[in-house]
Amino acid sequence: CGIVGYIGDGQAVPIILESLKMLEYRGYDSAGVTIFNGSLETYKIAGRIKNLEDIIPENVNGSTGIGHTRWATHGKPETRNAHPHISSNVSVVHNGIIENYMQLKERLTGLGYEFKSDTDTEVIAHLLHFNMNCNGKKYLLDGLTETIKELEGSYAIAALCAEEPGILAFARKDSPLVIGIGNGSNYAASDVTAFLKHTKEVIYINDNEIGLLKPDSIDIFDLDGNSISRDTETIEWTL
Ligand code: GLU
Repeated sequence: CGIVGYIGDGQAVPIILESLKMLEYRGYDSAGVTIFNGSLETYKIAGRIKNLEDIIPENVNGSTGIGHTRWATHGKPETRNAHPHISSNVSVVHNGIIENYMQLKERLTGLGYEFKSDTDTEVIAHLLHFNMNCNGKKYLLDGLTETIKELEGSYAIAALCAEEPGILAFARKDSPLVIGIGNGSNYAASDVTAFLKHTKEVIYINDNEIGLLKPDSIDIFDLDGNSISRDTETIEWTL
């Protein structure tokens, strides 16, 4: 199980599929991607990454995307429980367990959100959508910051919003997350092996950090919105 993200000047589909294959060793029962191709397009399926490859049409041309290999903790390993999980214009992948998902699900259902899966993860998508839209227009960074303040449990999250196409948001607590810094492209993953072919310059994200990837920048913040500066590290080994 693991998450990956890509934003840059290349084709996201082959890059993300390749990264997901590099994470196969972590074990998984289903896989999925969301690609920004003018709008957010999501493809997901139970079973092998080959199955996912087979259902993504040839003409999905986008240079921003997120992907997931799932090891089910809440909800059977079925296509409808595979990630990404969607709440209208928002797409989320998550590795970990949201312990207070029942309370959040009840609240969000009361607010009119319809759940399409049995996962704990789907609350993150709806909560992010709610936090971005409740008090007038907000942005991914604010929305995700407010969202993770309400989550109990473990998570590495990557999220996209159709209205902010040049941005990939991420956050982490008690699940691994590392950023890869390329040349005009940036990467996020649960494990460096996912993008080591493309770059060896990395930044490890710590607990309770949240950030934004753009094709040529990476910004990290604490939960109070303060900017965090961190040196990059160079991975010395090869695959
Ligand atoms: N708890 C989530 C689920 O069951 C994520 C599992 C994972 O980390 O793959 O969908």
